[in-house]
Amino acid sequence: MAENLSRRSFIQNLGVGIGTTAAAFAIPSIVSIPESKPKYEGRKLGIALVGLGSYAKNQLAVGLEKTTNCYLAGIVTGTPAKAEEWMKKYNIPKKNVYNYQNFDQIADNKDIDIVYVVLPNSMHPEFVIRAAKAGKHVMCEKPMANSVEECQEMIKACKDAGVQLGVGYRMHFEPFTKEVIRMSQEKVFGDLRFIQSNFGFRIGDPTQWRLKKAMAGGGPLMDVGIYCVQAARYVTGKEPLAVTAQFGPITDQERFKDVEESVSWQFDFPDAVTVNGFTSYKTNIEQLFITADKGFMHLSPAYSYGPIKGRTSQGDLHLPVVHHQANMLEAICKEFLETKQFPPHISGEEGLKDARILSAIYEAAGNGKKIKLV
Ligand code: NAD
Repeated sequence: MAENLSRRSFIQNLGVGIGTTAAAFAIPSIVSIPESKPKYEGRKLGIALVGLGSYAKNQLAVGLEKTTNCYLAGIVTGTPAKAEEWMKKYNIPKKNVYNYQNFDQIADNKDIDIVYVVLPNSMHPEFVIRAAKAGKHVMCEKPMANSVEECQEMIKACKDAGVQLGVGYRMHFEPFTKEVIRMSQEKVFGDLRFIQSNFGFRIGDPTQWRLKKAMAGGGPLMDVGIYCVQAARYVTGKEPLAVTAQFGPITDQERFKDVEESVSWQFDFPDAVTVNGFTSYKTNIEQLFITADKGFMHLSPAYSYGPIKGRTSQGDLHLPVVHHQANMLEAICKEFLETKQFPPHISGEEGLKDARILSAIYEAAGNGKKIKLV
């Protein structure tokens, strides 16, 4: 296991060894422990955050203070008081501050390489497409959009404009997650049999956008259930064949007028692997459990900002604890500076695949039928 490996082979093992079945989730090396000097040393990409809410403020901006190859160069906000506060705190010049109306002028701003959309889900398509038309590379928060069609439009807009599009799938870069992916796909414990993936929390303010279908696209499935869908895909390196699903009971009529309170689903994966998922806005739960012929792997916490904790049937996993957002942005920008492309495993096409699966889960829960995904 990881604790028995030398530091060098351990780091190498995190970066290599994934076979062709895992092409979509080929794992980059851990960026927080560089072994050689990057080719692009000294270059920093300028990132503009669009929407200065909780995730932008408490996670991404904090992460961008720790990165070496990118920095917070600009902001887009509808609140002038926030603009003042952020300009002061992060030393952002006024020329790099936009609102939602004049945002398109960012096209003329050479300081901004990447626009990072961190708005409520329903606003992702508009701002990704506007960023692409302004000629900027785009990162978009999950879920990429509330519908398959919108994901397709976003991908097309970025392709037409010749810009990169990535989804903020931070777990792809997280060391415990990467180790579980490696162990699963290298069959360290033999063939996978069953995966249980759950993510839920008790939601607060009943007036927030996350509880409005028009803005959020749905309830906990769109918000955190997507992590469980992602986990099933990155652990197996494969795509689900079919899904059945059930909505849970509504115990809070005030909050859950518009979106589901909870939903469970069951995926059939290739090679007779079954995956059970559960997500909820009423239950604190967070785990990824994978059982294989000769042992198990378990992460809990598995998806929140960390520290992620993990063990296998051979003992606890001891891996570096990283700042998820700094780690992700450093890795994405490293790849971009070296290849002019974002890592393929966070592409818009990956966001589109998730959108299709989320939509199938809702369909299955709505009509009680098994929905085929291939
Ligand atoms: P938030 O409510 O804290 O922030 C939303 C921001 O959008 C606020 O600054 C708000 O002023 C702005 N906004 C603009 N127009 C708005 C409107 N009409 N209604 C509501 N807000 C409006 O939300 P958040 O938690 O920062 O989430 C933003 C995005 O980031 C979502 O897509 C969410 O899924 C994603 N997110 C990702 C992670 C992750 O770990 N990857 C974590 C949290 C959130």
